[in-house]
Amino acid sequence: MQHAIELDALRSEVGDSASAMAACVHCGFCLPTCPTYVELGEEMDSPRGRIVLMKEVLEGGLELEEALEHIDPCLGCMACVTACPSGVEYGELLMPFRELAEDGRRRSLPDRLWRGLMLDTLASPARLRWMLRLGRLAAPFRALLPARLAAPLDLLPEGADRAEVGFGVFPAVGEQRARVALLAGCAQQVLAPRIHQATIDVLTRRGVEVVVPGEEACCGSLAFHAGDAPRARAAAGSLLNVLGRDGLLPDVDAVLTNAAGCGSGLKEYGLLFAGRPEEAAAGALAAKVRDVSTFLSALETEAPPPLPQPLRVAYHDACHLAHAQSERAGPRQLLAQVPNLTLVEPRDWEICCGSAGIYNLEEPELAARLGRKKAEALLEGEPDVIATGNIGCLTQIQSHVRRLGSPIPVRHTMEILASAHATD
Ligand code: SF4
Ligand code: SF4
Repeated sequence: MQHAIELDALRSEVGDSASAMAACVHCGFCLPTCPTYVELGEEMDSPRGRIVLMKEVLEGGLELEEALEHIDPCLGCMACVTACPSGVEYGELLMPFRELAEDGRRRSLPDRLWRGLMLDTLASPARLRWMLRLGRLAAPFRALLPARLAAPLDLLPEGADRAEVGFGVFPAVGEQRARVALLAGCAQQVLAPRIHQATIDVLTRRGVEVVVPGEEACCGSLAFHAGDAPRARAAAGSLLNVLGRDGLLPDVDAVLTNAAGCGSGLKEYGLLFAGRPEEAAAGALAAKVRDVSTFLSALETEAPPPLPQPLRVAYHDACHLAHAQSERAGPRQLLAQVPNLTLVEPRDWEICCGSAGIYNLEEPELAARLGRKKAEALLEGEPDVIATGNIGCLTQIQSHVRRLGSPIPVRHTMEILASAHATD
């Protein structure tokens, strides 16, 4: 059988830890929440089908490449985990499978180069700024480009790369109630630096001292979720060094992120470093990671003053927050506290918007179908603004809202809270 060496490694690595394979009772409750099953209608493109495929590869009954046809389109959204009554931890099977399958698969040279370019660019604020400038120059020629090269152009944000995020220590306003480290992230600090400023505003106004380490950039989650664990470990190792230096980690109450994809990846550092020397340090960091909405909703604070005008906010659950971190209540609680703000709940909340890290760049057609449906569902509630807690969702939904001809803005939850506080 082809790829015998890699598959041996795969079996031993995934092996017994893949309780997902044993725990799945094939009930099918997860199927209606799986975006690829809903779109493609094939059992092999469902969580249940994928679990069977991975099991067959591991048992030597199926070629890896045959399974990858159906594993690759998986968004890693984890809606199946939320839906599963048997507690199947699909992610704990998918992530090691993707990592080891990456070594055993046949990727063409252009494919390898393109993936590497995307991951390295998104992980580096300096590179991403350059790429955005090139993208704006290329935008008028979009129709001439192949789908893969055109896809990033459709996601170019308005007003990106025109501001820099702030680093350093931001003292609490009034009595200090907590001290946190806030990760500035990578792509977000270029695509929407206003989110970082809004997060600092909200935290400091609510009595939290914020430390933004200046050297870290990418936490590696983007690469990890794309199956590129070596790249992810390199980035995560740098972050561990930065946070470990000068005793920052033990000196803060939490390590906050305002990007759901990063939060879920950071919490998976134990999986990323399993059996490696960094495992203990990675576990210590993961234990302190919180999404900013989780942290703030647990910190009882006064509500912002009433908004001058009524505001209807349609809230979009980012999969990496709602499914991967089981956090749906926190952001809603924070928004609902704002007087004069009405929360609008869209239909099909559990279905992914199609962003999913670099998925909308790798699988642009399926991602576009999901993006359009999500934008339509959110606009049905006639909101004044759409809120979400993840830069990938924000960019994807904004792009599809615009394509539907709507001027409705998409904002991070922290931006809406910061505007409410600004009326103070
Ligand atoms: S992670 Fe998402 S796309 Fe993948 S099988 Fe589960 S529900 Fe389907
Ligand atoms: S809901 Fe859970 S147990 Fe049922 S088929 Fe899906 S993964 Fe398997």
